[in-house]
Amino acid sequence: MDDPLYQPISALPRTASRTIAIFKKLDIEIFADLLAYFPSRHEDYSSLCSIGSLQSLSPPEGKFTVSGTVVSFGNNYTARRFTLQKLRLADDSGQIEAVWFNQPYLRQIMVPGTRIALSGTLKVFRNQTSIQPEEYEILLDESTVKIHTGRLAPVYPQTRGLSTKTIREKIYYLLATYSEQIREILPELTIREFALITESAAYEQIHFPETKDDFEAARGRLSFDELFIIQLSSALIKQQWQKEVVGHAFRVEPYQSELKILETSLPFKLTSAQQKCIEAILADLSRQQPMNRLLQGDVGSGKTVVAAFGAYLAHLNGFKTLMMAPTEILAAQHYASLQAVFSGLKKPVVKIELVTSSHKPSKQALDDAAIVIGTHALVSGKAVFTNVGLVVVDEQQKFGVVQRAKLKKQGINPHLLSMTATPIPRTVALTLFGELEMSVIDEMPWGRLKVKTHLVPPPKRDDAYSWIAQQVKESKAQVFIVCPLIDESVAETMQNVKAANVEYEKLSKEIFPKLRVGLLHGRMKSKEKEAVIHAFATAKLDILVSTPVVEVGIDIPQATIMVVEAAERFGLAQLHQLRGRVGRADKQSYCLLFTEKSNPSVLQRLQFFSTVHDGFELAQYDLENRGSGNIYGTQQHGLAGLAIADLSDRKLIEQTQKAVKSFIKKNYLLRDYPELEKRVTQYRTRLIARD
Ligand code: ADP
Ligand code: MG
Repeated sequence: MDDPLYQPISALPRTASRTIAIFKKLDIEIFADLLAYFPSRHEDYSSLCSIGSLQSLSPPEGKFTVSGTVVSFGNNYTARRFTLQKLRLADDSGQIEAVWFNQPYLRQIMVPGTRIALSGTLKVFRNQTSIQPEEYEILLDESTVKIHTGRLAPVYPQTRGLSTKTIREKIYYLLATYSEQIREILPELTIREFALITESAAYEQIHFPETKDDFEAARGRLSFDELFIIQLSSALIKQQWQKEVVGHAFRVEPYQSELKILETSLPFKLTSAQQKCIEAILADLSRQQPMNRLLQGDVGSGKTVVAAFGAYLAHLNGFKTLMMAPTEILAAQHYASLQAVFSGLKKPVVKIELVTSSHKPSKQALDDAAIVIGTHALVSGKAVFTNVGLVVVDEQQKFGVVQRAKLKKQGINPHLLSMTATPIPRTVALTLFGELEMSVIDEMPWGRLKVKTHLVPPPKRDDAYSWIAQQVKESKAQVFIVCPLIDESVAETMQNVKAANVEYEKLSKEIFPKLRVGLLHGRMKSKEKEAVIHAFATAKLDILVSTPVVEVGIDIPQATIMVVEAAERFGLAQLHQLRGRVGRADKQSYCLLFTEKSNPSVLQRLQFFSTVHDGFELAQYDLENRGSGNIYGTQQHGLAGLAIADLSDRKLIEQTQKAVKSFIKKNYLLRDYPELEKRVTQYRTRLIARD
């Protein structure tokens, strides 16, 4: 590769292989990835002082940097085997003492005569000012550039086995060596129109800014890049999409009466929101251009039946529908729900098949089916299905596009409907999913009771446990208990599993010894999972302890109590998803939020949650109060995962939208902007990897 920034990270000079291995774990594969590993904050060590000027009886607040020559260094042993390291440092104006705890190895570094810089806070004890060092740095000569001290020093997200100091040094090295090679990705005109700083300045200043303003300018520039790339990618997909033609546009008119019969056969009346969504979908399906629509609706809002109307229209037109869910358990639930939807029809019978790793229907059965349900393994490399008119993808927004592309390779060109229970605020949806048309079911089926939500502070925990036991005994209530979210990653991590095991032991042995308690986590074999869920669904368990995986969904309509441990760790939108697991039948349901925290902001947020039942309102609150970095907590939904841009920054969103529009309008071609093209490709690849 001619671009030095595309060198593998293992090519970093003088770097331990352990460090390289950790970088790789962080998805840092090439030099450019390391430059894009942004600091979470900066420590302000920029106030440089002479030692003499610090000798005052009331030392100023804040952090300072001094530099000088080591006069002496000693290890002192204290009681209980602690060690203290005392250093005297001198410059022309005076001397100052610095003290460390338990870092005896410093003796090798702080040899008398060595020039060093120290950053930290000041302390006065017995009329002597000393410095409490947070960082030190060896100065080889007068011209040594300071990386760790005497400046705004970047602090990187903590990773075990990798210090911020090491990351700083590696990134500093890359910037010092290659900053000239950091190429511009945006068109000249865009950079001028929005007064952006250059790409290379942005990377330098995001890590090592001279001033806070420099940092802000860098953040602005890199956020602009990020949102521009996402939106450009969406716009290009949309453009491409509009050029496509489906195999057949479905006819709606001749089947009006069949559709009506399906509607009247349902055991309930569709909400007007459901009706509107169905209309939009049927209208899409009747076009030559393939549908690419996202159907949003809270858990329990009735998305399945809406999708069923699309599938039915496809069937009436002689086409098959494929429905894909993230897990086999969810696929099985869709299978049951869809069967229920069509069960009121006398004829024609709508045949539905479920495909799982343990259940593979015959080729004939698949050919005959109107609807085939499974995980995304349904669409693998080899062509299995013919006559697919509609693909429905649940909870994996961007993934649908990939699935559709695979089908296209097999000569199938279907409509695409994505569904999600994650409420996405409108501005966010437009930014991240610009290529999708949106439908929202913003109304719950009539007669559904609100889930009573209570915050449970530590002193009330025991009462809550006894109340739960009582509910189980007296009303046969079934209870979900969700363990703390330990690790916010896509896959179930061992830490989550361990925490769940501990919680399970405690709950089943100490707290509810008389109740039947089960455990569910993502690392269990699917057979084991199914067995546990089945036991819970058939009321052979009273309590199901689970890692946050239940969020994405199991459907146990008779469960009425949801307990969330360490509720403060979840985004409100996530809590809302969890709460949606109960309150699905006509019985009053409850959601108990356990927290050990007592800071007002945490409590206020959870209180807000207990009074608000609208998913969009909660998502908006998250967006405004937690910052978009956290808004989607786990990336289970394949949403955000933004590195730097803040989705609550409306001005930035407007600017980048405008820039993308003019890029498209000017008929700029991506291939004329190779750097941009690389980034767009990279963005798409990552999305796919994440889904
Ligand atoms: P979700 O949007 O979470 O996928 P489902 O489609 O599974 O929701 O629907 C949840 C439950 O609500 C199902 O049992 C379904 O039969 C029922 N349901 C759907 N629409 C209505 C309605 N308009 N009135 C009453 N019940 C409904
Ligand atoms: Mg559903």
